[in-house]
Amino acid sequence: NQYVIPVDPEVAEAINNEERRQNRKLELIASENFVSRAVMAAQGSVLTNKYAEGYPGKRYYGGCEYVDVVENLARERAQELFGADHANVQPHSGAQANMAVYLAALQPGDKVLGMNLSHGGHLTHGSKVNFSGKNYQFFDYGVAADSEMIDYDEVRSIALKIRPKMIVAGASAYPRKLDFKKFREIADEAGALLFVDMAHIAGLVAAGLHLSPIPYADFVSSTTHKTLRGPRGGIILCRQEWAKKIDSAVFPGVQGGPLMHVIAAKAICLKEALQPEFKTYQQSIVDNANHLAQNLVEYGLRLVSGGTDNHLMLVDVRPKNLTGQEAEAILESVNITVNKNGIPFDPEKPTVTSGIRIGTPALTSRGFNTDDMALVARAIATALEYPAEADKLEEVRQIVATLCDQYPLYNI
Ligand code: PLP
Repeated sequence: NQYVIPVDPEVAEAINNEERRQNRKLELIASENFVSRAVMAAQGSVLTNKYAEGYPGKRYYGGCEYVDVVENLARERAQELFGADHANVQPHSGAQANMAVYLAALQPGDKVLGMNLSHGGHLTHGSKVNFSGKNYQFFDYGVAADSEMIDYDEVRSIALKIRPKMIVAGASAYPRKLDFKKFREIADEAGALLFVDMAHIAGLVAAGLHLSPIPYADFVSSTTHKTLRGPRGGIILCRQEWAKKIDSAVFPGVQGGPLMHVIAAKAICLKEALQPEFKTYQQSIVDNANHLAQNLVEYGLRLVSGGTDNHLMLVDVRPKNLTGQEAEAILESVNITVNKNGIPFDPEKPTVTSGIRIGTPALTSRGFNTDDMALVARAIATALEYPAEADKLEEVRQIVATLCDQYPLYNI
């Protein structure tokens, strides 16, 4: 910010305020994280100046000898970390990674089976308002009404009826493990390709805490900024037989010049993820999520599917006579950041919802442990129980302030 202040004080002030916000609030948005200083520095480096259309050794611009080093490192580390044949590290985002996978494997109008957005899927898995739902004929599967977990028998029967060209597995708001082996069996039976979008769980997969989709899927995409704790961006992993098609779907298919500064940051994040400490970090994310979930249940909140086996949980706030929208606003007023989120079979509109989504990757990066999760749960539950009592809300703000003081940001 020292360089921004003299040039643009308005932007500098907004950056400063955002830094303060991140420091003073409890960040519980399941898709967010705090990157290392090294990851941030690479993104602010001179690599942002370089055009490098093409791939290492085959560029459409001169002067690419150093960015080639960076992209090769990122590709090799992604392949090593996940045990994949081939990695493309150029997608600007998770959505663009998914767009490239569809472009490589499908024709417009092809049938695809993905998870229903309102049951935890992502917009790019066939929503009508997204390119995926507009360009391809998407069908959906969801969770069972009683268990609120994916019913693989139902996925199988839909797949055998529809005979899609591709099945998409992966979610943005599903608190349970995904059984990629079962998805593969279903895909084989239905004669479909299997595409796994592991955006949310990539860090857990890297650490061996979630079944890896690599042995089962034809394509795997991910964002790099969630549990993986890297820069905002995407990657695609695939078998060698698809490598050329995936590469040309990313460039020139859906993108122009790659963001070399972001690719450098991806390389650094992948190196960090290859260290033994990363496994400890991911285990702490899962332990923290588990503790937070158990504590919230003790305070009378209902968890979708009864709990969590990953980094996130979906909390049904109706037992407190609140909507998701109200719960998000109450928590924001006490410096706790979450997002309202539809729960399966939600009677409320997507702008209102009956739930909130809570994740532990960001707080775990700050150093929060399972004892702290008891306090975080108390803070959340107290605010949601007494939203109209000023002294109770003040008590919660005090808990939040104490926790934030204890774990200052950017000690990581
Ligand atoms: N896929 C899944 C499962 C996601 O949860 C997300 C983001 O939330 C994306 C893809 C899209 O990523 P991006 O926001 O980088 O486009």
